[in-house]
Amino acid sequence: MAKSLFEDAVARLDEAYKHAHIDKESLNRLKFTKSILEVSVPVRMDDGSLQIFTGYRVRHDDTRGPTKGGLRYHPNVDMDEVKALAFWMTFKCAVMGIPYGGAKGGISVDPKNLSRLELERLSRSFIEQIADFIGPDTDIPAPDVYTNARIMGWMMDEYSKISRCYTPAVITGKPIPLGGSLGRDDATGRGVFYCIEELRKKRNWDPKDIKVAIQGFGNAGKHVANLLHQAGYTIVAVSDSQGGIYREQGFDIPSLIHAKNSTRRVKAVYCEGSVCEAVDAQHITNEELLELPVDILIPAALENQITQKNAPNIKASVIVEAANGPVTSQADKILTEKNTLIIPDILANAGGVTVSYFEWAQNKNGYYWGEEEVHQKLQTIMAREFNNVYSFMENKACDMRTAAYGHALNRLDDAIRAQGTHEFFSGQQ
Ligand code: GLU
Repeated sequence: MAKSLFEDAVARLDEAYKHAHIDKESLNRLKFTKSILEVSVPVRMDDGSLQIFTGYRVRHDDTRGPTKGGLRYHPNVDMDEVKALAFWMTFKCAVMGIPYGGAKGGISVDPKNLSRLELERLSRSFIEQIADFIGPDTDIPAPDVYTNARIMGWMMDEYSKISRCYTPAVITGKPIPLGGSLGRDDATGRGVFYCIEELRKKRNWDPKDIKVAIQGFGNAGKHVANLLHQAGYTIVAVSDSQGGIYREQGFDIPSLIHAKNSTRRVKAVYCEGSVCEAVDAQHITNEELLELPVDILIPAALENQITQKNAPNIKASVIVEAANGPVTSQADKILTEKNTLIIPDILANAGGVTVSYFEWAQNKNGYYWGEEEVHQKLQTIMAREFNNVYSFMENKACDMRTAAYGHALNRLDDAIRAQGTHEFFSGQQ
């Protein structure tokens, strides 16, 4: 029987354990989820009818601090997916050395079918259902797939009303005037970009020789495309959920972003101001995009995109996981044998949660930082942890994902061990 997403996620720990010299008790503890919550979310629709949606919040582990992780609105959201995503957050925060555990949540809903008012009612109703389980020192949500700053703002407002206390630190990724942080909006894409830049230094790349394909043109995909374009890389393909476009000479990314923002579609255009004209490009499917002859492939959409079926056809020599879980563990094996370097999600896309941590710290202090300061601090942490994981990989002769988990396990083990494990309580230590 095929493994569930959560089982597949947990299976990767055993491999990392071989390289991490940690207490077996720590490993076992991390295979379990701290708590799970399923709620019904009633919403009065515009036509007067009442619809009930199903929402989830899962906390995986809080040894290193309050739990942290996004809220996703997508029809495929279910308990298994949310559990896997919460698990990844624990390791993501540990890789980055930020003082949080992992959580995740979401609602099974297609937000494209909701009016703006319905979306607001849904978001507020969800907070009403989970308000007793979240809080600035217990569990702190944030944006994820198809949720954004405005939604975070509604949620913070709803939580503050319920608790009768202005509480910006309960949620991150808020609009700037409502306590958001400068630099949070593009932080995930920026973190991916900083990882690629660290690799460029190691490999002595000239950016203009490097061809990049990006699957997904949402928050992460758009921003990483833009930053890579500015740095001189050639972005030859991008896609959204409807399909993609490919052009060997590369695209002018600001034009693509302009078109996507105004038409909600990925279109092959070149724009001067607001006047856009079409450029020659090939229409491709999302599956075709993954198999293009490029140097760097950036899956920036959803999980399970690269599987044992298409992994043998992947031509990119580097995959940078801007999405969470885009490569299955079976595909991992095939790609590692082919010598494909995978910069894993728990490192590559951790820029988002890192700037969320900055936002939370600013909220708690009531003192706000400038944008440059945020970029600088993010760059320092991304570069430090990229190089930590890279050295772990070289020292242990393992793949980069195993190295990232190993590095995270060591940090988690330090925290679990500080509370005492079997060795301590049985007097062996
Ligand atoms: N949803 C993002 C992630 O998967 C951000 C989480 C956060 O900022 O807490 O990392």
